[in-house]
Amino acid sequence: MNFDAIILGAGQAGPPLAGRLTAAGMNVALVERKLFGGTCVNVGCMPTKTMVASAYAAHLARRAANYGVVTGGAVRVDMPRVKARADAVRTRARTGIESWLRGMSGCTVFQGHSRFEGPDRVKVGDQLLVAPRIFINVGGRAFVPELPGVHDIAYLTNTSILELDAVPDHLVVVGGSYVGLEFAQMYRRFGARVTVIEKSPRLIGREDEDVSEAIRDIFVGEGITVRTKAECIRFAPHAQGIEVGVDCAQGPPEVVGSHVLLAVGRRPNTDDLNLERAGVKTDARGYIVVDDSLATNVPGIWALGDCNGRGAFTHTSYNDFEIVAANLLDGEQRKVSDRVPGYALYIDPPLGRAGITEAQALASGQPILVGQRPMTKVGRAIEKDETQGLMKIVVNAETRQVLGAAILGTGGDEAIHGVLDMMNARAPYPVLQWAVPIHPTVSELIPTLLGELRPAGRG
Ligand SMILES: Cc1cc2nc3c(=O)[nH]c(=O)nc-3n(C[C@H](O)[C@H](O)[C@H](O)COP(=O)(O)OP(=O)(O)OC[C@H]3O[C@@H](n4cnc5c(N)ncnc54)[C@H](O)[C@@H]3O)c2cc1C
Repeated sequence: MNFDAIILGAGQAGPPLAGRLTAAGMNVALVERKLFGGTCVNVGCMPTKTMVASAYAAHLARRAANYGVVTGGAVRVDMPRVKARADAVRTRARTGIESWLRGMSGCTVFQGHSRFEGPDRVKVGDQLLVAPRIFINVGGRAFVPELPGVHDIAYLTNTSILELDAVPDHLVVVGGSYVGLEFAQMYRRFGARVTVIEKSPRLIGREDEDVSEAIRDIFVGEGITVRTKAECIRFAPHAQGIEVGVDCAQGPPEVVGSHVLLAVGRRPNTDDLNLERAGVKTDARGYIVVDDSLATNVPGIWALGDCNGRGAFTHTSYNDFEIVAANLLDGEQRKVSDRVPGYALYIDPPLGRAGITEAQALASGQPILVGQRPMTKVGRAIEKDETQGLMKIVVNAETRQVLGAAILGTGGDEAIHGVLDMMNARAPYPVLQWAVPIHPTVSELIPTLLGELRPAGRG
């Protein structure tokens, strides 16, 4: 079967790309092996953020008295209803994408696992699809490390944990980065005992130490046990559940949990694509090697989203689609390296991150200035009685460009966009200082931070 283009995977980049290519008159084949919408819609952002909202409601209800609100007794979480709510949100999104694709004029949907047969052809079951352009958007899955005993226990991943309809007695989360932290806090608020085990010295090691510390304080304050420097993680069945070896310098050498969630990273879905038949190169970890326009080493084949290792978020996958579509159809020359990195960690309060950290800026050798403020000095946070966290901005002292910012605090996932937009505009920071922000907001303190810039380390 001949097409103008074949798209492998209906994640965050594939469906909108099908929309643009068909609108440009191309005859497109789109192959999806499992769930339309991919990770974000089915087992990632959407169900987890829906559940984070339930966890927030439980937390706020427990703190109701702080606001002068009287509730009718102890707060209980109805886990089947929490799950049903998340299921409804993800099912609605999935079916929306599927019916959009199936009804798209010029797009033929194939359901099944695709594998390359050559640089211009893939097989789905016994059907052979041929096209001069192939776009790979196959995403990734939870990485299961070969830790001792891991195959002797029933562990959970980000996919299987979403099937729980009862609150675990004691959830042990292995991995202190964004997937692990979001589930850890959410289940603590649902009523589980929770232990987070992280092998490095601090949580979310990609952030500055003060941000990691503040997150640890928030977690410990909610009764979550945090075990860092767990250098020898191992598993064994136990009469009360699962024993997890920790080997930290301090504290008991083992933890016994009723459930274990593995949240130690992701791996690309490239090992079962027969990429070698097309000659497409991958790196040592299986990510497809792409250039700045997301083209692979094989002419006519592009890789978009998590499988190219250039981003690990829904917005980066979607931006990959925008770059490829603009270059192919609009005569533009957009590049991945022009993208200003940003992300949010959806614990509560959330962390919004734009650009690089203070440590990265220092390591780059640039002359930097830093502005910093605890959320206890942010009016909006005080009014909401949500004063945990801090905000921080880093600028280049000579070029006056904003290099990065972190807002760990109430509304931080939204407020960070003021900084992200400035960075995208490549505008010098005084432009942001002259803005007249709305009162009372978290964002209104960003110009204040810029008025209090100091050399690094003197915050
Ligand atoms: C728990 C969790 C929470 C997350 N929360 C956030 C968040 O809040 N914000 C955020 O930005 N990101 C979040 N992410 C990351 C986000 O989900 C991913 O970055 C995003 O889904 C990547 O999109 P993608 O298009 O690259 O691939 P995917 O969404 O993974 O889609 C790939 C698709 O390809 C299909 N496929 C794979 N192999 C084949 C094949 N051989 N043939 C046919 N089809 C195939 C898959 O079935 C899948 O549908 C989260 C991830 C997790 C795990």
